[in-house]
Amino acid sequence: MTETTASSGGRPNLPMQGVPQPRRDEVLKLPRVHISSHPVMAHKLTALRDKNTQPTEFYRLVKEIGALLAYEATASLALERSPIETPMGPMVGERLAGGIGVTPVLRAGLGLAEGFREVIPDVQVWHLGLRRDEQTLQAMEYYNQLPHKVDLQVCYAVDPMLATGGSAIDAINVLKRRGIPRLCYVGIIAAPYGLLKLSQTHPDIDIYIGALDESLNDVGYILPGLGDAGDRQFGTY
Ligand code: URA
Repeated sequence: MTETTASSGGRPNLPMQGVPQPRRDEVLKLPRVHISSHPVMAHKLTALRDKNTQPTEFYRLVKEIGALLAYEATASLALERSPIETPMGPMVGERLAGGIGVTPVLRAGLGLAEGFREVIPDVQVWHLGLRRDEQTLQAMEYYNQLPHKVDLQVCYAVDPMLATGGSAIDAINVLKRRGIPRLCYVGIIAAPYGLLKLSQTHPDIDIYIGALDESLNDVGYILPGLGDAGDRQFGTY
């Protein structure tokens, strides 16, 4: 563990100041953590991180990365037999068994959810609003549009930046209360701190990310990261 500069006593004014953080190599082998090794992902991530990438292009890249992550995260979904007729005759095909949900954590998760919809157009989209308290970095729920009837085989909570892990842990808590049989978290960039927290708090979920970065700065932003994923998607600097 490395430690950032200690605060001057009392409640820290910078929430991650003095908080010990695991190193990258300490979390690389966590169970059920999948870090993309696809060259196309690496290529798109570089364009995404570049500070000169403007919001229109940034949003398009988030969607494309969402589609790549959706492809990786759905690789082990259950199938059921489905008899059909091709123009040449009968055959037994396969279809995805049961519904698939995607829960974008508002608002930064919206672009990723769009990427999922491009891969699986009939996903159910369950919007969830979580806001971070800038002082404590605790996640607070402010909006919830989840259906009463649940008939999903899996639901993916999507949020681009796994920083302190607060929102991701909270989103999975909310979804667990709905009784969905399988839950996954999908993000673009993770910090070792948030990845460890999420994995320890919810060891029963799979975590899919595009890249694992080095650390968090004193205010909880990922380094080297890409800045604020919500502001960069929606042009609200
Ligand atoms: N949220 C972001 O948008 N970026 C970070 O680096 C951390 C949290």
